[in-house]
Amino acid sequence: MPELPEVEVVRRGLARHVVDRTIAHVDVAHPRAVRRHIEGGGDFAARLVGRTITAARRRGKYLWLELDCDRSGADAVLAHLGMSGQMLVAAPGRPAEKHLRIRIAFDDDGVHPSSGTELRFVDQRTFGGLSVHPLVPAAFDGRLSGELLPAPIAHIARDPMDPAFSLDDAVAAIRRRRTELKRALLDQTAVSGIGNIYADEALWRARLHGARPTEKLTRAQGRAVLTAAAAVMDEALAQGGTSFDALYVNVNGASGYFDRSLAAYGQADRPCPRCGTPIRREPFMNRGSFSCPRCQPRPRRPAL
Ligand SMILES: [Zn+2]
Repeated sequence: MPELPEVEVVRRGLARHVVDRTIAHVDVAHPRAVRRHIEGGGDFAARLVGRTITAARRRGKYLWLELDCDRSGADAVLAHLGMSGQMLVAAPGRPAEKHLRIRIAFDDDGVHPSSGTELRFVDQRTFGGLSVHPLVPAAFDGRLSGELLPAPIAHIARDPMDPAFSLDDAVAAIRRRRTELKRALLDQTAVSGIGNIYADEALWRARLHGARPTEKLTRAQGRAVLTAAAAVMDEALAQGGTSFDALYVNVNGASGYFDRSLAAYGQADRPCPRCGTPIRREPFMNRGSFSCPRCQPRPRRPAL
């Protein structure tokens, strides 16, 4: 599953290569890749042809391409990358990838720097896909936030890298939950874009155990863990500098960050970089949580 910095790299690639281009033709090679577009592949293609992509946007790990308004109103192509989805910008003559699912060709005038290329959605495992949805008013913590998001993700909160992210609002939303801190970090409605790796790294930096009850979290602790999450994301993005080849672009650039820079996640039995105590692994939602027993003591009582 791509983490937020990888998705941001994809968004930047799409912003550069497909925004301000008009779609000429759409070829759906595998129906599973458009299964979230409930009207089917024919309707998916018909909704796109003739439309101009006006923006590439991201909310947490969700990515969408806004389309110019037509008779159907404001809408967008929502991309689910799933486990293995990739967006490629390729020369049309390039042979089809083995797992090519959707091909989008553009009506270019030669002015756009990426003229002549096409957008390909390639997905080996086909958990991902593309679908068109109306843009609807977004809600945060039960209140309308005054922006438009694709309908299926209108409840997803801003992520810490979003320029309009409010640290205080996100901390307040977490403290209103009645759950454990790590669950609140992962649930995407108080803050988005934090997966298992970022949660463990942010909790380690903030010296907090993920089982802490959110209602007992202080504002300072809430700010510390979200600030740490933003810092980990910034570092990952800074190291993820992917070079784009104009003729064949894998806009899913993996950052390589996680191989080198993790303090807690996946580090079971290795020394904590801060105090030297072996990092522990505890079971968490069918996966694991990694933390330092000394820097991040468990809360005395369970959260619930
Ligand atoms: Zn430690």
